[in-house]
Amino acid sequence: MVQIKTPEQIAKMREAGLVVAAIHAATREAAVPGATTRDLDEVARKVIADHGAKSNFLGYGGFPATICTSVNEVVVHGIPDDKTVLKDGDIISIDCGAIVDGWHGDAAYTAFVGTGHAPELVELSRVTEESMWAGIAAMKTGNRLVDVSRAIETYIKRQPRPAVGDHSLGRYGIIEDYGGHGIGTEMHMDPHLLNYVSRKRGKGPKLVPGFCLAIEPMVSLGTPRTEVLEDDWTVITTDGTWSSHWEHSVAVTEEGPLVLTAVDGGKAKLAELGVTAAPDPLA
Ligand code: MG
Ligand code: MG
Repeated sequence: MVQIKTPEQIAKMREAGLVVAAIHAATREAAVPGATTRDLDEVARKVIADHGAKSNFLGYGGFPATICTSVNEVVVHGIPDDKTVLKDGDIISIDCGAIVDGWHGDAAYTAFVGTGHAPELVELSRVTEESMWAGIAAMKTGNRLVDVSRAIETYIKRQPRPAVGDHSLGRYGIIEDYGGHGIGTEMHMDPHLLNYVSRKRGKGPKLVPGFCLAIEPMVSLGTPRTEVLEDDWTVITTDGTWSSHWEHSVAVTEEGPLVLTAVDGGKAKLAELGVTAAPDPLA
């Protein structure tokens, strides 16, 4: 069953989404060489407390922190700690969420630590982010879930192959073991969103106003395959190639997609793609 939200409930999810956007802004500033991933977790914890919100990551299935910090070959679910010190040239994907009045937000981004990153890393993050936006642009009434999956996959597959480099095998791997999800009164709800089209799955539910999804492509510079480390959380690529993760929580509305976790509701980026974003319900 897919949970369909009223406009009032979407406005609550927008509040949660803006807290997530504030965590992104604060952690982005703090992700500098010399910082530990625990430092970033502390920054996030404070932003959530300052907003009077709650973390939906802390304690989720026993997860011990407020954000996931996934460095380099770590795809998702990296646990912040004191021994992971960020170095110039690293990339880090930060995933986090917040709850306001029982409504959830969830979003992730990849940041560059320091300067001087190899062009294939810059391109990896760009391709992953843009594939997310292609999926977001497909969040309109009349489409089905598979249209979002197809938009993400098609975008990635149309890109020129990345250069072979220290952290790259010269191709993009669309991670298959993880994907997006419905979101609302819980962080993870039906339906599951694949980042590729599977012949084994049907077209999925119709997208209607009030349908909310967290759209989150994960892409590597090599394999689509992953494994989980002994801590039962940290997900790495099986070939050690580096990876990127981008995510936004998005609502379908009568007036177009509303990107709940983007400061501007997705307006500027969607305009570039020829799509009109819904007006911000809190504006
Ligand atoms: Mg997330
Ligand atoms: Mg998610």
